[in-house]
Amino acid sequence: MTLKQKIRAGRTVPPACYYLCMQTLREVIEDARGKRIAIGHFNISDSYQFRAVKEAAKACAMPAIVGVSEGEREALGVHEAVALVMAARAEGLNLFLNADHTHTIDKIKEAIDAGFDSVIIDASHLPFDQNMALTREAVAYARACGRDVLVEGELGMIGSGSEVLDAPPADIDKDFTDPQQAAQFARETGIDLIAPAVGNMHGVLRSGAQQKLDAKRVEEIAQSTGLPIVLHGGSGSPDEDFVAVAKAGAAEIHISTDLRVAYRKGIEQGLQQFPDEVAPYKYIAPGEQAVEKLVEKFIKLFGGI
Ligand SMILES: [Zn+2]
Repeated sequence: MTLKQKIRAGRTVPPACYYLCMQTLREVIEDARGKRIAIGHFNISDSYQFRAVKEAAKACAMPAIVGVSEGEREALGVHEAVALVMAARAEGLNLFLNADHTHTIDKIKEAIDAGFDSVIIDASHLPFDQNMALTREAVAYARACGRDVLVEGELGMIGSGSEVLDAPPADIDKDFTDPQQAAQFARETGIDLIAPAVGNMHGVLRSGAQQKLDAKRVEEIAQSTGLPIVLHGGSGSPDEDFVAVAKAGAAEIHISTDLRVAYRKGIEQGLQQFPDEVAPYKYIAPGEQAVEKLVEKFIKLFGGI
């Protein structure tokens, strides 16, 4: 079915951004999986960070996913996020929008109705059966919306905050996600992507200690589920581990905390550099540049460029 046929078959009129994209996110993820590379997912909460991701994707001539969690959506605006991505697509960029870590069906519906390309129903803190029930509900809504919206489910605890931490959160999974349980989860929910615990963790450690990623476990889960793996909490893992997990089946890698740290440091430099400046775009510019540089590094690393 062509994109136009898919749209015609839909019950709702999709937002303009859907028409403008060069490929669908599903095609981009499948393509990455075939090439054993990963697409970068970068969190933003304002238009400066957005532009940094956009310019980096443009410079690398690669697709990228812009992520906004519930908190980031509240800061930026759900429709504002869609409008920014739509503007980039109008320039011919393959930029996609993901509703990162969404905890309720109402927020899933809000993001899908607004035109997001993908959503993550994050019910990994709930017992297995309840996680499956909530995830199934998200999948049902996405399938009925009239567009091809990808749904990602989460299995395994990897902490929740994109922050600088003194110690790993007490509730993270030390045993990592079980491939057989992941297979059941995938089969019974109908999700398109799965986010497991494989040594990854949200946030970074103040000590600078890095989190080793278990590429073998990624491969086992990719095989048992037949799904592309999404690696969350990428900040704070070694570069060679990213390459290994992408080869093993991680088609999407999330980076947030590293970008937040770089943005803040850049703005601090900007304030020092221009102590009397009140135009935000002048003292924020070094923050934006720092984010752009880092996003470019990750896009190249994940994309094997
Ligand atoms: Zn995450």
